[in-house]
Order: sequence, then C-alpha cells, then structure tokens
Amino acid sequence: MRLLIVEDEKRLAISLAKGLTAEGYAVDVVHDGREGLHRASESPYDLIVLDIMLPGMNGYRVCSALRAAGNDVPILMLTAKDGEYDEAEGLDTGADDYLTKPFSYVVLVARIRALLRRRGRHGASPVLDLGALRVDTAARRVALDGEETALTAKEFAVLEHLAVRAGEVVSKAEILEHVWDFAYEGDPNIVEVYVSALRRKLGAGLIRTVRGAGYRLEAPR
Ligand code: CA
Repeated sequence: MRLLIVEDEKRLAISLAKGLTAEGYAVDVVHDGREGLHRASESPYDLIVLDIMLPGMNGYRVCSALRAAGNDVPILMLTAKDGEYDEAEGLDTGADDYLTKPFSYVVLVARIRALLRRRGRHGASPVLDLGALRVDTAARRVALDGEETALTAKEFAVLEHLAVRAGEVVSKAEILEHVWDFAYEGDPNIVEVYVSALRRKLGAGLIRTVRGAGYRLEAPR
C-alpha cells in the first residue's frame, strides 16, 4: 500500500509519514499542491492525504484536476477550517472523506483504513485466498492453514505485494519501489532480509527465488 501526503506544514507532514511508515505503508511526502498533482498523476497511489491550503495549487483544485483526469484514487482531505462549507466543497470536488485539524493520529489511521477497505470492496477483494495462505490486506492479517502468523509491518507489506501477484515473478526493484518509498537509498538487498524472515515464519517453499529475476509466491496447498 502506497500513500501520498500533500501537506505544507512540514512537521505535521513528517510526523504523519513516520507514523504511517511504522504501520507498514510506503509513504511519499510533498509540500506543494502542484507537486502533489504531478506525483499523483505519475505514480499509482492507493490513497492520498491532501491538505486544502497549499502553496502552488490548493487541495480542492488538486482533487478536481485528478478526478477530471479520471483518477479515482481515494482522497482524504485535511482542513484547518471547521465548517460545513469546506466539507461540502471538498466532497463536491471528489474527495472521499475529510478531517478537520487538529485531528488525532489514531482517527487519521482509522479513516485511512476505512477508505482502503471501502476501496477494496468496490475493486479487488481485500482478502487474498491463496491455497492454505490467507492474506487480509485490510485487516493486515495473515493466516496459514487457519493459524494466524504475526508479521512486522514491513514483512506484511512485502508479503502483500508478492501475494497480489501470486504466481508471477516480481523483481526486487519492484518490491523496493512499492514497499519502501521513493527516497529509499539503502541497500536493495534489504528485500532478501524480509523474504528470509517470511520464509522462516511461513515455510521455506512459499516464496521461490527466480535467479536473476526476482521472487515468485506460490500458493501453498
Ligand atoms: Ca496547509
């Protein structure tokens, strides 16, 4: 799950990004409306957290430009102003939900989860049933043969990405790009560390290494 935060209050943006990263989301942050629109148009995000008062281009305009271009990514708007007018305008321009500042982080995360779940019901199912493996992408739970296995947020994100593409080869670079954020400049071999952890927890045969190409998740029987 990859999120974009468009928020010009840098401290707020960075603390949100830190918190959401710890929840296992890959998070990109921009501080300008125009840059937000550009990013959102270029990359497939699962959800956008969009402030209204932004330099460059305000959140309403970013939102309506995305919708006009046929982009239906879930958008959670943040507003400093408390009033029905803002809410109506935000929802009019195509936002899915809004939150008035100051908000609690717990509420923000709950709203994000709800939007992702709603999206899941309309689009792909949030639960992936792969033989004996069951991955619930909304509740972020994984079970093998009905036994729930505890995974860290990043382990879950790596597994989720492989599970969505079960049976296909997924390159290390692609996993890095989806699970870590665009600013990650560490060792790409970090992916191997997480794949090893998943094999330890879920069985060695679950994720095959395809030499020189990447990994393939095979539905366990
Ligand atoms: Ca602002």
